[in-house]
Amino acid sequence: MQNNKQIRLSGVQPFTQLDFPGRLACIAFFPGCNFRCGFCHNPEFVLTERLVKTADSWIEGEVFLSFLDQRRGLLDGVVISGGEPTLHAGLPDFIQDIRDRGFQVKLDTNGSLPEVLGPLLRDGLLDYVAMDVKTSLERYPELVSACVRTEAIKESIALIKTYAPEYEFRTTIIPKIHGKKEIAGILELVRGSRRYVLQAYRPAITLDPLFGEYAAPDPSHLEMLAKQFRPHVGELIVR
Ligand code: SF4
Repeated sequence: MQNNKQIRLSGVQPFTQLDFPGRLACIAFFPGCNFRCGFCHNPEFVLTERLVKTADSWIEGEVFLSFLDQRRGLLDGVVISGGEPTLHAGLPDFIQDIRDRGFQVKLDTNGSLPEVLGPLLRDGLLDYVAMDVKTSLERYPELVSACVRTEAIKESIALIKTYAPEYEFRTTIIPKIHGKKEIAGILELVRGSRRYVLQAYRPAITLDPLFGEYAAPDPSHLEMLAKQFRPHVGELIVR
């Protein structure tokens, strides 16, 4: 319990029917991320200069757990999202405290820290993992605008396939970014996975304003990609 004093959440969404498949859940957002994806729709949880402006309104981990105590019997689970939650040292204890209250846990992650993800999975702390597979390994550093260990991305994918009770890999499709080579690279990474999600990019508030000008994929483009991926994954979802 002592580590929950270190946990501070940048936001809480009290209810969602969409983000944890099959469960009624709330979402706990962790501040900060080690990536800088131009298409990120949550720059307020990522950019340091924006984070410092909101720090006064962050929520203590123990306050969130008290909120959960009042939601017993009303919610099934908690989505741990961000930012990138695995950057926070107190995460395993925080998740354990959530589980001790009877809630299931889904983790949203960019997969950059398998050394954190692996123990969480092996210790049975996660019921569901959603990992972004952003592009082919070759194009990762450019797209996430950060130093990224591509071996770590591969390792996280393997860990999730092996240990996660339920999981999805997902890609936000931006036609200007994801050409044939990138799609082929992604397919190699997610081949054989249980569930893969193609998400349509929606130009809106983005971390890099340039991305706000990139067009969304049209439905026929997504359906063409779905046909390409469907034979190689257990379940293919288009969102
Ligand atoms: S990994 Fe996720 S939270 Fe981090 S910058 Fe990229 S889209 Fe945003």
